[in-house]
Amino acid sequence: MQSDHNTAWSSCLLKIKDDIGDQGFETWFKPIKPIKLENKVLTIQVPSQFFYEYLEEHYVHLLRGVIDHQLGRDFRLEYSVVVDTGDAANKPFTINLPNNPGRTSGNGYGNKQDVRRDLSSFELFGYDFRLNPAYTFDNFIEGDCNRLARSAGYAIAQRPGVTSFNPLFLHGGVGLGKTHLVQAIGNAIANGADRKTVHYVSSEKFANQFYDAIKNNRIQEFSAFYLKVDVLIIDDVQFFEGKEKTQEIFFHIFNHLHQSGNQIIMTSDRAPKDLNGLMERLVSRFKWGLTADLLQPDYETRIAIINRKMQADGINIPANVIEYLAYSVDTNIRELEGVIISLIANASLVKKEIDLELAKQTLKSIVHDIDSEVGVDYIQKTVSEFFKVSIDQLKDKTRKKEIVMARQLAMYFAKEYTSLSLKAIGYHFGGRDHSTVIHAIQTVNDMYDTDASYKKATDDLRKN
Ligand code: ADP
Ligand code: MG
Repeated sequence: MQSDHNTAWSSCLLKIKDDIGDQGFETWFKPIKPIKLENKVLTIQVPSQFFYEYLEEHYVHLLRGVIDHQLGRDFRLEYSVVVDTGDAANKPFTINLPNNPGRTSGNGYGNKQDVRRDLSSFELFGYDFRLNPAYTFDNFIEGDCNRLARSAGYAIAQRPGVTSFNPLFLHGGVGLGKTHLVQAIGNAIANGADRKTVHYVSSEKFANQFYDAIKNNRIQEFSAFYLKVDVLIIDDVQFFEGKEKTQEIFFHIFNHLHQSGNQIIMTSDRAPKDLNGLMERLVSRFKWGLTADLLQPDYETRIAIINRKMQADGINIPANVIEYLAYSVDTNIRELEGVIISLIANASLVKKEIDLELAKQTLKSIVHDIDSEVGVDYIQKTVSEFFKVSIDQLKDKTRKKEIVMARQLAMYFAKEYTSLSLKAIGYHFGGRDHSTVIHAIQTVNDMYDTDASYKKATDDLRKN
């Protein structure tokens, strides 16, 4: 056992993989090499200083938990960082990971008041209710997509239980900031002057606690625990669907808390009316206060989020890369963040500055639908070769007939073969707007139907 660092680390990796998404795992844990296990210290090698800092900042709790669980609480983790000397004879040096966040005193994790508070009140049957201090209003970017939700949340944070926004019900798709926002509200209240008790729990965890309570005959304790909180945050209530007993007890807790003027905050991936398998009287209560939705972030908000993220990590990237990312990743904020993080990690792995080329490579390797489809670059290259015009000419302002025709066809194929929006396609053609792209597609369709030689050229090109 002493020397088997590979086995030890593999067992940790299994747990870690369970806990975080594929992307985080690939980016941050795949490149790690276990080096040795001696005197209850597991040493792992990471490729750069940045890696070390990132892991320490974002995954220290996870790592500590996994080490506790897989190896034992008296085991420690140490990093061996490969110093960037620019040649093959890299001499790794070792830094100790402050890997005891839960048990050491003031160490920068959370605020010190939190550490001093009675931790036992944040646990029930071994489940933890603490908020994640990383989610704040400060780092929640405001945009059209979240303005109502954010301002309601902000009002609640100032006067919990007193505004008419009780309950607050936030809904929206995955990765749009529901958890971030409700935790920001919770953190603001918990750190406020009245030191109110804020409990954050996912509805799944709530349901599991409830099952434990039933199993162990501790329902009394379960209810009492929830009835004494000042602010209850229940994340992802869609998990209550079809769970009648759980809804029943939640209904009871909800009524009691609401009547005594305590704040209730809920999130869901759907609006109350679209929740199926939920008791009608519960759904009607969800609508008592304010219901607000979070939408997909618009372009400007995405730019702001990228800028903010880069600033927080102390990284500068060129404006064209920021625009490229904002145009290309328009699904949700979690995905956008994932791409940014992978990009930073890639830059640190290949020891290069972040530029457009690297951004494109990164996006290709992680966003699967981009990976499996023909890219705009490829379409532009094929079209330019076919018509013997340069790629630059496809993107510039030239109005020469052959070039306009080539450009329009390239846009047409970009629409057909990629999942890019019209706006994004315009961006790849010298920053044209979406109406130009629409016009191009219409022209191609018209010509295709009316001009036989045009039709043939288009069909030949499609084969390429
Ligand atoms: P959801 O709970 O809706 O699935 P999350 O709250 O987990 O989404 O958000 C996903 C990621 O995006 C988190 O890392 C979060 O910090 C970030 N995020 C979401 N909205 C914003 C925003 N408006 N500003 C900054 N970061 C955001
Ligand atoms: Mg969430």
